[in-house]
Amino acid sequence: MASKTKYIFITGGVTSSLGKGIIAASLGKLLQARGLSVTIQKFDPYLNIDPGTLNPYEHGECYVTEDGAETDLDLGHYERFLNVETSQSNNITTGRIYNNVITKERKGEFLGKTVQVIPHITDEIKSNFYKLGQDGKYDVVITEIGGCVGDIESLPFIEAVRQARWDLGPGNFLVVHLTLIPYLKAAKELKTKPTQHSVKQLLEAGIQPDILVCRTEYPLPQDVKRKLALFCNVQLDSVIEAMDAESIYDVPLLMKKEKLDERVLSKLNLKPKSKLDLKDWKGFLGRLKNPTAEVTIGLIGKYVSLPDAYKSIIESFTHASAAAECKVKLVLLSSEEINKDNYTSKLKSLDGILVAPGFGERGFEGKVATVNYARENKIPFFGICLGMQVAVIEFARNVLGLEHANSTEMDPATPHPVIALMEEQKKIDQMGGTMRLGSYACDLKKGSKAALAYGKTKIQERHRHRYEFNNAYLEQLESKGMFATGKNPETGLVEIIELKNHPWFVGVQFHPEYKSTVLKPQPLFVDFIQAALDKKNNK
Ligand code: GLN
Repeated sequence: MASKTKYIFITGGVTSSLGKGIIAASLGKLLQARGLSVTIQKFDPYLNIDPGTLNPYEHGECYVTEDGAETDLDLGHYERFLNVETSQSNNITTGRIYNNVITKERKGEFLGKTVQVIPHITDEIKSNFYKLGQDGKYDVVITEIGGCVGDIESLPFIEAVRQARWDLGPGNFLVVHLTLIPYLKAAKELKTKPTQHSVKQLLEAGIQPDILVCRTEYPLPQDVKRKLALFCNVQLDSVIEAMDAESIYDVPLLMKKEKLDERVLSKLNLKPKSKLDLKDWKGFLGRLKNPTAEVTIGLIGKYVSLPDAYKSIIESFTHASAAAECKVKLVLLSSEEINKDNYTSKLKSLDGILVAPGFGERGFEGKVATVNYARENKIPFFGICLGMQVAVIEFARNVLGLEHANSTEMDPATPHPVIALMEEQKKIDQMGGTMRLGSYACDLKKGSKAALAYGKTKIQERHRHRYEFNNAYLEQLESKGMFATGKNPETGLVEIIELKNHPWFVGVQFHPEYKSTVLKPQPLFVDFIQAALDKKNNK
């Protein structure tokens, strides 16, 4: 298989959580900044078909793509860094690979052969490795292999990477191994042994890494680099130091300083299509680091003990704060701990309140109390998905006087189902991939806060929910000042609600956070920060 597309595989060793996703995205950014077209995909070793059914505490946020795939949160980093959309094909799990192979087996596609991990599973993995590179759209496909080298469950992926070298041919294939160089305080020394061991594990699997990227808290002295090069069988200039960074968005510049991109280009015989251009990126970092104002915004949700559960929202604030040149001090508060008796003390220092997406009953009433506080005290309020649904429920209960108004998700027997299941959702009995997912159109009402923020009246945003605003209550809500300012043009489903007599109160059924990138901050987040700043200044 002669390949025009170049393939870079990123493996990890020593520990997990070293930031392979950020290194992959940063390398992708540097190649893209030289005019190359790049995509990044992630292969995850777990058996779930996708992370859609995983509890956020297990795996952080589930990121949703335009085409409605429920994916690993690293795909969010890829989109935020590269400003290029990903899709279902960019995230493959062991579960999906086995599912594909077993489906083929049931159809008789293996013609009576015994179906085995090698070659059938590894062939399926490889055909998925190459899928995005097939139509010549990308100069480079970067593949991140989830987990750690040596894990039992990642073995077939590692074996497939070994075989890929021979499919792709020399010069088209590269392995970057991300590893940790721990510092032993007592010995005052950076230790290379764990890295030597993890490279040995790769070698045992038949893979020689071409480049080592070494996570470290201290600069790597030349003799440490030399030792790593010697024992791990890599060129000295291919031992790359990756120091802890102040912001993940600094990492592309740090990697450029360490010449990671140059090493990759020369090893792959890849000619840049333009001179390195990071002007916009640096402009973003300049604005991010030199704010002219500051606001405090509360993110109220039930998964706050694991901030990764709100990754895209947190990153959206970073992008928007740079655009608004206003630092956002984000305070994560557990909705389980908020009620009407304590909400003033918990929320009074906030300039803006965001009620987060979520599922299930736990912490739900705390969200209702939070919205009540934001509405009555005219604090800028942004509700996302469940946050929007809560805003409707709070208004129905406290303004329309429908005391037990609820979502049928929380109370199936509610007399006032202001949020309810659509007919087609009632028939569904499988959990995975069955929500309303992916990109849908939305028409905005002229003059609404949303239309002003977006600067247009036709938008597309991504969804991930089962329950919907119940249009039977729309007239009643509008008569008291809660308006539907965004609707799906085909189905009439309400996508955005706003309050009339309030400085900034916007609830959206979709997830605007999935489309925010460094170069394209999400307009609602920018406007919300501005509203919070206005509120602060009027104090
Ligand atoms: N649980 C709600 C629903 O399914 C909201 C989902 C969400 O916030 N992502 O409709």
